[in-house]
Amino acid sequence: MLQLPDYTNTFLDTRGAVSGLSFSEVILEGIAPGGGLFVPSEIPHLEADALAALTTLPYPQLAAWVYGLFGVDLPQAQVAELMQRAYGDAFDDAAIAPLHTVAPKTHVLELWHGPTSAFKDMALQCLPLFFSAAIERWREETDYLILVATSGDTGKAALEGFADRPHVNIIVFYPDGGVSDIQRLQMVSQRGANVGVFGLRGSFDDCQTAVKQVFANTAFNARLADQYGLKLSSANSINWGRLLPQIVYYFSAYLQLVSTGEIAAGESIDVCVPTGNFGNILAAWYARAVGVPIERLLCASNDNRVLADFINSGTYDISERDFVLTPSPSMDILVSSNLERQLFELCQRDATRIRAWMNDLREQRHFRVDRQTFAALRECFAADWVGADESLQTIREVFERYGYLLDPHSAVGWKVAERLRCANPVVVVSTAHWAKFAADVYRALNGIAAGAALPKDIAALGGLGITTHLAENYPQAGPVPSGLANLAHAPERFNEVVEGSADAVQRSIKEWLARGGCIAQGARPVTQ
Ligand SMILES: *Cc1c(COP(=O)(O)O)cnc(C)c1O
Repeated sequence: MLQLPDYTNTFLDTRGAVSGLSFSEVILEGIAPGGGLFVPSEIPHLEADALAALTTLPYPQLAAWVYGLFGVDLPQAQVAELMQRAYGDAFDDAAIAPLHTVAPKTHVLELWHGPTSAFKDMALQCLPLFFSAAIERWREETDYLILVATSGDTGKAALEGFADRPHVNIIVFYPDGGVSDIQRLQMVSQRGANVGVFGLRGSFDDCQTAVKQVFANTAFNARLADQYGLKLSSANSINWGRLLPQIVYYFSAYLQLVSTGEIAAGESIDVCVPTGNFGNILAAWYARAVGVPIERLLCASNDNRVLADFINSGTYDISERDFVLTPSPSMDILVSSNLERQLFELCQRDATRIRAWMNDLREQRHFRVDRQTFAALRECFAADWVGADESLQTIREVFERYGYLLDPHSAVGWKVAERLRCANPVVVVSTAHWAKFAADVYRALNGIAAGAALPKDIAALGGLGITTHLAENYPQAGPVPSGLANLAHAPERFNEVVEGSADAVQRSIKEWLARGGCIAQGARPVTQ
């Protein structure tokens, strides 16, 4: 057994409001007062031979080792035990994040072997366990109620991760009609005594706005605390507890390349990440900063290409940008929240500059970084974007050429890697299983343009039906993951659709609590 480092790290935030918090405190806090994001005060550094010694570790032990390296303030034995639970039977591949060599020097890192078939599981199978452990560590008087507004993937992954966790309850709100058939079925069939799911009439933006207003409503928050001993939390992708588990799979990817002899220990690789909120690629940057030999980080955008344009110009500008719906909906994002952490790391951690840029973004809808920060960015990042039709063509090309079926998000990554790669081996990060986006994969394989109508008989099959149809007709694409296949028989537990307003969200929460939706292990309704 390797000796785990035995120090604990502290955290500060990107806007200079607080410092000195521990890991278990920042995962409960989520975001700093003033809106800053937490980062570790010390970025650990790995000696070259330390990495080589990790090659034989199973994934859960590697994850525990990385947590130790980053100075998590929980006993090492507890961290190890939680990792065994997080990265065990819920994944359908023992490697957890297996690397699949598709073409010469081109390796696909499959991050969708978890229960919901999208990469959010990599963090959301882990964070909830640590969230409960943190509550126990500080033995707070309150339990938590996690509220999530989701456009699809996050909602299900969060439900699956938090289901039946002690001291935590979770309610997810999704835009009715704004998620795919499969995504809706995944959510409304969620098991667990501490979960709730509501459809909201309106768009994802309406949904997010309503939930944000509930977070900001102090009277409502006070009532929840008084009557139920509950505190609201969001556990969204800016929580450091979601970022840290993502750093682990970049260690794992590198070590897999070494152990299969694809590269020699110490040899450099590039990684290409299909990007939305900048969380996944930021995790790769941290792995690089720690000492994993990643030379270049290739940022792949879809038609909502604000990030690719930023990396190529130094100006982040959403003033005249229209939000576009694409076949890769989880990357349809204009305000990329984790970029703030990246800028903080690249500008010598100067909170004053971060505050100024974030202010410009809010007030003028754009900001421009200084010359040194831009140079630091260009030193490790390159970026490009891929349009909707080209992403579908890429799915077809890769399938015809290599017999490997990509989902539309991963196809964006593949194409950008193809354009920007140099001599280094490249790891293309695959963020979803194709079966989750079957309608667009059908379009891709049949040369139908993005957004165009499907043949009537295919459309009539519905999301799951199209998935099954593809699996039967293209056996090379592999079987449908059991979590998705089982949806055909899953009873729908949640069928309520309410108005897309803060009032309706609050009413839904109250009714859900009154029905006893909340297990709140301490069995508090305080007023009873
Ligand atoms: C969330 C998500 C992304 C984007 O990841 P970020 O960390 O937000 O950049 C890409 N692909 C899929 C399938 C996702 O669910």
